[in-house]
Formats: sequence, structure tokens, C-alpha cells
Amino acid sequence: MGLFSKPEDLTDADYQRARLRMVETQLAKRNIADQSVLEAMRRVLRHRFVPDDYQREAYDDSPLPIGNDQTISQPYVVGSMTEALHPGKNKRALEIGTGSGYQTAILAELFESVVTVEYFADLSGRAQAILSDLGYKNIEYHIGDGLSLPENDDCYDAIMVTAAPKIIPPELINRLAVGGRMIIPVGEMIQYLKLVVRDEDGEIDIRTMYQVRFVPLQ
Ligand code: SAH
Repeated sequence: MGLFSKPEDLTDADYQRARLRMVETQLAKRNIADQSVLEAMRRVLRHRFVPDDYQREAYDDSPLPIGNDQTISQPYVVGSMTEALHPGKNKRALEIGTGSGYQTAILAELFESVVTVEYFADLSGRAQAILSDLGYKNIEYHIGDGLSLPENDDCYDAIMVTAAPKIIPPELINRLAVGGRMIIPVGEMIQYLKLVVRDEDGEIDIRTMYQVRFVPLQ
């Protein structure tokens, strides 16, 4: 990719090359081993989810701005968080923080269905337009606070949170099915990615993964 090329100068083949390189150098070489995750990240057109001005950087090893002071997460972080959820086609996922919709697409590729909640209506609207244009039909969209979910008993096999609360919200732990896994950044200035697992006996186990920097949960 030329340094000064505009997005319209880049062909689908250019983006595809950049995407395959991203998966090899940023994910596979950094120990992401789940082949289904690597395959999904080879398939999903990440550049479609970033603003035009940033499209040629879409496969770089970094987060990028998406408007409303929010960011699309770094590819490695998307991959490792997804892998930690142990995705499967018979499992249901909940995502808090639709943002650009990129992570939503990865989840939709790997899970039976995805419920995704976004605080900002305009971000949700943009993500919905792209995801429906790309043909995803197993996604349900909600706008509002991901901690005030509709009052029902729905539980999820996997919960992905992409904005950081100060503590792990009990509301979300309550939504974990037996055997369910939640991945969530926690903290303020210093944040750690936490993996919360509800085991077969219903007990909650919390493990710390690595240090991260996410936007705060609204
Ligand atoms: N996974 C997204 C990350 C977006 S950044 C991506 O890769 O594009 C985090 C997102 O969480 C932002 O869009 C932000 O608006 C949203 N968010 C923050 N607080 C929220 C809340 N309480 N409920 C739902 N979404 C929230």
C-alpha cells in the first residue's frame, strides 16, 4: 500500500493482502491459536467499519477513532478477547459496546446469535447499516446502557464488554449461563482484562489476563 494513496486507490485485493498479513503477523504469531477466530478475522472486511479517512490504516496494529470519542479496538485485542470466549455455533453471545460493529461481525461469524448494545444511537445506526449491507442476519441491536438490559431472564454463553467499568458489574455476571464466559476490561487509569467464568456448579471464577486501555463505560 502506498503511503499517500487515498482509500479509493486501494483495491479489494490490496485490502485482502493487508488483512491476511494482519492475521499472520499480529494474531497467529502472537499465540492466537483458535483457527475459527483466525478464519473469521481473515474473512471480515475490517476496513468497511472504519471512517473513510482511516480505511488505509484499517489493518494496522492499533486502535482507530470511529467518532463520538470512541475507538475500534486493536485487531490483536479483538482476536484474543474472542478466543477467550470459546466461541461455538451453538452458543449465544451478548456484546456491550457495538461501536464500529467490527467486533460484532466477528462474533456473528462464530456464534449462533449476537445481541449487541450501544450507548450512542448514531454509532449503532452506522454499525447496523454496514452489518446488514454485509448480510449478517443473526444480530439483534439495542441502543442504551448495556447495564440496563431488558427485564427478562435471558442468559448468554459468552459476554464481550468493550468499554471499561470500575468494577465487574453484577448485572452482567447474572446474565452468564452455566459454563458461560465473560471477557471485560476493568479499572480506570490502569485497566486489566478479566475473564469471568461460571462453572458447571454455578460458581464464579475470575482470572486476570493482561493490561489494556479501553474507553470508560458510560
Ligand atoms: N467493539 C467496538 C469497540 C467500541 S469502543 C469496536 O471494535 O468498534 C466501546 C463502545 O462501547 C463505544 O461505542 C461506546 O459508545 C460503547 N459504550 C460505552 N458505554 C456503554 C454502555 N454503558 N452501554 C453500551 N455501550 C456503551
